[in-house]
Amino acid sequence: MSSTNDSRPPAVSETGDPLLLTPGPLTTSKTVKQAMVHDWGSRDAAFIALNAEVLDGLPKIVHGEGDYVTVPMQGSGTFAVEAMLTTFVPRDGAILVLINGAYGQRARRILGVAGRKSFTYETAEDTPPDLEAIEHILAGAPSITHVFAVHCETTSGILNPIDKIAALCARHGKRLLIDAMSAFGALELDARTTAFDAVAASANKCLEGVPGLGFVVCRREALLACDGNATTLSLDLLDQRRNLDRTGQYRFTPPIHVIVAFHQALQEFWAEGGVAGRGGRYAENARILIGGMRSLGFETLLPDALQAPIIATFRMPTHPRFVFPRFYDSLKARGYVIYPGKLTVADSFRIGCIGRLYPDHMRGALQAVRETLEEMGVALTPAPAP
Ligand SMILES: *Cc1c(COP(=O)(O)O)cnc(C)c1O
Repeated sequence: MSSTNDSRPPAVSETGDPLLLTPGPLTTSKTVKQAMVHDWGSRDAAFIALNAEVLDGLPKIVHGEGDYVTVPMQGSGTFAVEAMLTTFVPRDGAILVLINGAYGQRARRILGVAGRKSFTYETAEDTPPDLEAIEHILAGAPSITHVFAVHCETTSGILNPIDKIAALCARHGKRLLIDAMSAFGALELDARTTAFDAVAASANKCLEGVPGLGFVVCRREALLACDGNATTLSLDLLDQRRNLDRTGQYRFTPPIHVIVAFHQALQEFWAEGGVAGRGGRYAENARILIGGMRSLGFETLLPDALQAPIIATFRMPTHPRFVFPRFYDSLKARGYVIYPGKLTVADSFRIGCIGRLYPDHMRGALQAVRETLEEMGVALTPAPAP
């Protein structure tokens, strides 16, 4: 670990901004931001071609080329999740929502607003769903047509067993809808071996684009069967896809600059080696971050087996001189922006390791944490890893 000033990278992004150790929006490359300095007409052939290239490439990330199509959705990731749920779940359908954090809760709210019947199975934020319990619920409620699961629940950073959930759904003839917002592009999801009807994600998490565009990668046959399901016009994925097929254009104003930046971000994603390369860098970031924080005396919420290499949750130290707002401000002053906790099970804070961040940035962040603890007069006792 570097501890001298001259071996430390500057704690700024390529454009001189503080580093965002957050779950998104996150630090992006200079070239991604530079892609946005031009104006494009949304009906212009050059933009239509570029947009098609973006959309056509996304199914490859889940090995779904041929059988899957991308439907983009203007807005943040939640717009894509809401579009997925309200396009795929029929008005008279019923869905089982697996919840172990805020994003599962949000899906339940979306379904309630949309008037869809939902069942929920909730476990604590540090606990993945129990497969036998899911099986039991499905067996007892034959009206359930769909299951919703979050791949990496960003609330805690927990990795849910998406492949096993998919296998279980397939066994019971249920359609799986996945929120993989914080996993897509970094954690393997293989449509050839994992059955799902749709997966929602966005431009600005592991794909390292800028915020403003969500998308849903949909099994074509399943999407085509969604006629009449939608309960909103703007979030109707089938209508959106049909219009793109007919005209190459969005129905309503697309976030042009976001899409052009996303095109650049995807080129950088493939140049890094796709999921293996991107996920590999994040895994190394997470290993350095978590190991370093533990050696400074912090405890993770999750055991390593449940921890996705996306964002780590640390328990708030109980040391009387540890004051979180001061800790946060001191890290920010050193160029590192961290994230408050959002848990109900424990007082905590979070540090992300996704975005244009490299192992040296994680080492720099650890040095900033070390200096901040010294400044606050806080000495923590390292505990054994959980
Ligand atoms: C970020 C995220 C979302 C979407 O959040 P927005 O703020 O709407 O972009 C949805 N699900 C998960 C798991 C996420 O991490």
